[in-house]
Amino acid sequence: MSLDTAALVTKLTEILGPSGIIAETAAMGAYLNEPRKRFHVPALAVVLPKSVAEVQALARFAFENGTPLIPQGGNTGLVGAQVPLKGNEVIVSLARLNGLREINADAGHMTVEAGMILEEAHKIAEAEGAMFPLWIASQGSARIGGVLSSNAGGVNVLAYGNARELCLGVEAVLADGRLYNGLNALKKDNTGYDLKDLLIGAEGTLGIITAATLKLFPLPAGYETAIVNLSSPEKALELFYAMRERAGTRLNAFELVPWIGLDIQTRHGMLDKDPTAGPSPWYALVEVSQPKGAEGGLLQAGLEAAFEANLIDNAVVAESLADRTRMWAFREQMSECQSREGASIKHDVSVPIAAIPRLIAEGSAAAQALVAGIRPVPFGHMGDGNIHFNFSPPVGADDKAFMAGAEPMHDAVYEVVLKLGGSVSAEHGIGQLKTELLKRVKDPVALEMMRAIKQALDPKDILNPGKMLS
Ligand SMILES: Cc1cc2nc3c(=O)[nH]c(=O)nc-3n(C[C@H](O)[C@H](O)[C@H](O)COP(=O)(O)OP(=O)(O)OC[C@H]3O[C@@H](n4cnc5c(N)ncnc54)[C@H](O)[C@@H]3O)c2cc1C
Repeated sequence: MSLDTAALVTKLTEILGPSGIIAETAAMGAYLNEPRKRFHVPALAVVLPKSVAEVQALARFAFENGTPLIPQGGNTGLVGAQVPLKGNEVIVSLARLNGLREINADAGHMTVEAGMILEEAHKIAEAEGAMFPLWIASQGSARIGGVLSSNAGGVNVLAYGNARELCLGVEAVLADGRLYNGLNALKKDNTGYDLKDLLIGAEGTLGIITAATLKLFPLPAGYETAIVNLSSPEKALELFYAMRERAGTRLNAFELVPWIGLDIQTRHGMLDKDPTAGPSPWYALVEVSQPKGAEGGLLQAGLEAAFEANLIDNAVVAESLADRTRMWAFREQMSECQSREGASIKHDVSVPIAAIPRLIAEGSAAAQALVAGIRPVPFGHMGDGNIHFNFSPPVGADDKAFMAGAEPMHDAVYEVVLKLGGSVSAEHGIGQLKTELLKRVKDPVALEMMRAIKQALDPKDILNPGKMLS
């Protein structure tokens, strides 16, 4: 049975109270307008449960009435997973379910509700002398449930792992309203299938996460950060290997930026001061952490050795927090700076780390064969094998005409990625953007297994239908 919209709104209001529902499309902007402005389908309603019991009641109602639900956190996802596809969905914002349940910094864990903003989780941990090391540029808006459901990565994966590796347990409401209580603080638990890991990265298709137990780490005493000038991605790879050997797990970040990144940011007045040692074909932002009691100078010594070995051409080491902030801003502004240059064709891909130089060379050549003068802007988490392989149009080109050629460009880049044993979605997920692509490239048996899991846990296809699997 499905209800008409007025009856649906009445029932949802009964479950959540008048302050728990937004039924006017005009008032839904914050929940519908996603960062890339690619998806524009309205929702039937937005609901904002403020307790786990309300989420359960909502799911039970949706299960009985065949109402599709889209779990939503901060609405910062980049593949349209958190916004409507057909217009018959109800968005379930977890924003009001955002409390801290418990924290034990000494033991290294805290349990928070799904709607807590990531930055708030950072602050709570820091106030207890601990660190939750998942840092992404959207951390001021992204919420824990969304971060886990998209298995977010960010700039610290090298040292601490992605969201999946930073979570010990989850609590989630299933499609029929049952509550899965998987909250625990265990590092070891070999009692069957890892249901937590199934829910993490599921993009809201298997359950609505209501709380999670997160791993905490000791706060480092400080960081040593540098921007290094490099002649090529091959040299960057050699430097990465050398720094990893020297710094081990203290190597916190190894981010790659091409010269065009500095050029665009400079031309558009995005830098108050050039954070680099001057023009260079490539830059790496390298950072090591300094545990309490450890001696400083590890990065400086590593860079001096690299200079002696001819791996690097020059480097600037941050001497103050302001320097470090400026260096990170240079890296973090890479996505935004491209939009100042017009349209951008984007790919969030990963390859085995040794293949990064080939990815950049062969991907750039394939794109240039399609569009003469295209400007490759490959940047990102080189230390994780994850490159945001973006392209800006040739100087003076028309944006619309450029974007009309996006599909062949995607095919060309993904062909290189797959040939190198890589993934067509490193950290942003599938959502509604890449469902067709997933069908084409994923191992068929893996797809069958994913569909079987979805059918078992959500037989009526209530949770985020059409996302990830179509
Ligand atoms: C400027 C910017 C920078 C970014 N940088 C990075 C980066 O470096 N690394 C990276 O990995 N990602 C990055 N992202 C994308 C990243 O995926 C999101 O920022 C974040 O992880 C999503 O959190 P959210 O709360 O906004 O989730 P939403 O966008 O609201 O949702 C994302 C997915 O999670 C599901 N979901 C949300 N809440 C729940 C829940 N409680 N239970 C079940 N499912 C749920 C949604 O249905 C959807 O499928 C960036 C995005 C922006 C805009």
